[in-house]
Amino acid sequence: MSVIYQRVALIGLGLIASSMAHAMRRGGLVGEIVGTARSAETRDIAREVGFCDRIVDTAAEAAEGADLVVLAVPVGAMGAVAQEIGPVLKAGATVTDVGSVKRAVIDAVAPHLPAGVHFIPGHPLAGTEHSGPRSGFAELYDNRWCILVPNGAEEVATQRLCSLWQSMGANVEMMDADHHDLVLAVTSHAPHLIAYTMVGVADDLGRVTDTEVINYSAAGFRDFTRIAASDPTMWRDVFLTNKDATLEILGRFTEELFALQRAIRTGDGDHLFDYFTRTRAIRRGIIEAGQDTDAPDFGRSVKHD
Ligand code: NAP
Repeated sequence: MSVIYQRVALIGLGLIASSMAHAMRRGGLVGEIVGTARSAETRDIAREVGFCDRIVDTAAEAAEGADLVVLAVPVGAMGAVAQEIGPVLKAGATVTDVGSVKRAVIDAVAPHLPAGVHFIPGHPLAGTEHSGPRSGFAELYDNRWCILVPNGAEEVATQRLCSLWQSMGANVEMMDADHHDLVLAVTSHAPHLIAYTMVGVADDLGRVTDTEVINYSAAGFRDFTRIAASDPTMWRDVFLTNKDATLEILGRFTEELFALQRAIRTGDGDHLFDYFTRTRAIRRGIIEAGQDTDAPDFGRSVKHD
């Protein structure tokens, strides 16, 4: 494959950025990868793992002279990073991000970018419950979706970023930021909150012991615990920045939950059966689309965020 960007700057060196670096190297897609992270500890680990060509101390140093800058920090930190790199970006560079929320990232980042820089927000729908520079792997994006938000950027710049993601193994979909935030509230954000809640409920319930919860978790609870092990900083920021869409979906969830609760209380088996038949069909659709998150991809539990 040919080189798509000469120099790429990765700002933040956790799961998502390190997996991008591994995937870019696998495909020989970029000339040079320059990385940076907030802490010296993460920078040292990244040096040791060796997925970047150079590790530098600051975001501004990494972004200077880069053709593509990837913001791979928690959503709540994107604005401050953009403010730092804005003055050093070279004309014609592309800035993208990988944040799980899109409207809030656009609002926080766009004001800091100079004219002549292409800003194309993105979100790879791939992840694991692991984080940090050791957790990345080249196959993370294979056959997963990556959503790009063109946001008025030039077509040529958008296509170039699109071809990078495709060459890293992903399928790319273009979407408007608000629609992205609503879709993800349904498919990821509300389910995470429900998982966090369920694990909290089990933890609070005095009549069921911790040992029982651990030993018998295969009956459904185990998947909740995997989701609820996701990074607290990342998920705090997701809920604070995708507030409206998440609250709308949780409102609908509560209505449905009450309807199911009523069906259980009144012994309305038909309601329960019809409901579960409909949801089973959705599960089949996910498997047929090859997006079954329970598949043991490369021995790791892969989920969509
Ligand atoms: P991660 O493994 O926890 O890595 C986060 C990186 O951001 C670290 O290098 C960390 O630096 C840095 N960072 C944290 N707080 C910061 C701050 N306040 N200022 C500057 N840098 C900071 O996270 P990740 O899973 O790669 O997630 C990165 C982004 O991808 C997030 O926006 C998340 O929403 C999005 N995303 C995540 C997933 C997923 O499943 N994990 C999936 C899709 C998208 P230090 O290590 O030095 O603290």
